[in-house]
Amino acid sequence: MITKINNVSIYDGRGQVLLNSSIIFNEQMILAVGEETIDEEIDVVIDGKGLSCLPGMIDMHVHLNMDATPDPAALINKDNEAMAAYRSLNNAQKHLRAGITTVRNCGSKYNVDITLREAILEGMFIGPRIFAAGQPIVMTGGHCHYFAIEADGENEVRKAARTQIKNGADVLKLMATGGGLTPGVKPGASQLSESEMHAACTEACHAGKTTAAHAQGNEGIKNAIRAGVTTIEHGVYLDDEAIRLMLEHGTYLVATLAAPYNVIRHGVEAGIPAYAVDKNKEASVPHQESFQLAYTSGVKIATGTDAGTPFNFHGDFVTELEIMEKLGMSVQEIIQAATFTAAEALGFEDMIGSLEVGKLSDIVLVKGEISENISNLRNVHSVFMNGKSIDL
Ligand SMILES: [Zn+2]
Repeated sequence: MITKINNVSIYDGRGQVLLNSSIIFNEQMILAVGEETIDEEIDVVIDGKGLSCLPGMIDMHVHLNMDATPDPAALINKDNEAMAAYRSLNNAQKHLRAGITTVRNCGSKYNVDITLREAILEGMFIGPRIFAAGQPIVMTGGHCHYFAIEADGENEVRKAARTQIKNGADVLKLMATGGGLTPGVKPGASQLSESEMHAACTEACHAGKTTAAHAQGNEGIKNAIRAGVTTIEHGVYLDDEAIRLMLEHGTYLVATLAAPYNVIRHGVEAGIPAYAVDKNKEASVPHQESFQLAYTSGVKIATGTDAGTPFNFHGDFVTELEIMEKLGMSVQEIIQAATFTAAEALGFEDMIGSLEVGKLSDIVLVKGEISENISNLRNVHSVFMNGKSIDL
């Protein structure tokens, strides 16, 4: 089936806008954009007047088995395997309905995200493309140890990396520092060492996979970059040297600004553990300053939310984008970070992330002009996944 959208504003994901334009696609791929035409007959024509069209968005940091409840650790410890799987499916579909056609799941207990990816690929359920980490790899007692593989020393970390690759992970999640949502660990403190993470990155590289390092403290961030990780998650305490290393290594920043924003906004009154609120409050200003330093220095930025953390709801991608705009990015830059740059960080930019001929037809229509107001991305009109309209 061939679909054409007419009279629409096209945001192509690579910084270009085509006003009053058109796009043609079938169930495999995009066939024409802008002035281009095709010889075959069009089956469905959609009038795109008043709508904006962009590539399916990509959330680079979600936890599908967390539910944005005040205390994610309590939920994870309570759920059995089946409940974690149902919860993950339910949350995955929230992303798709919000126009997020691809998510990278940065850690789940029981590897449920890997299994869910397979169930969706088999056609059992409608859902977004999932790039799954499964269980993170952490030092003994490290950040999120309650759902991770604990490994110490290069050999154990290498074994854990190989195990996750064998289990079907697309990306290896490594904990380079402590974090806000694990009691007793300091966000600034280094955890896995550079050599331990290097062992995991080498295995990922051999297997054609990527790596993501949870890295808040400055030394842990630098350890992770030097070890060769693909993306730095959070990046709370960046300095000039960290920026220089990121530029040198081509490391991406996935800032997840919405995570501390929501923790601080709701606070202990909403039931968030005091240790989490205190740690997030302490990190909030340096986090935003680090983001601005990375952006102005030209570090590659890919958008991720940490959805599933307290009051950080699955599918509420736009809160992150609104914060990025407040911190100085232009609408075009934000769209690119949420589409093409994210696809690049997944190593999948030949297939998704922009509206170009030959790319998979993951396409979103929203009401209103995005350049006039980024919040218009909340007003989803329709979502096409593989060229098929999703029932919202
Ligand atoms: Zn996370």
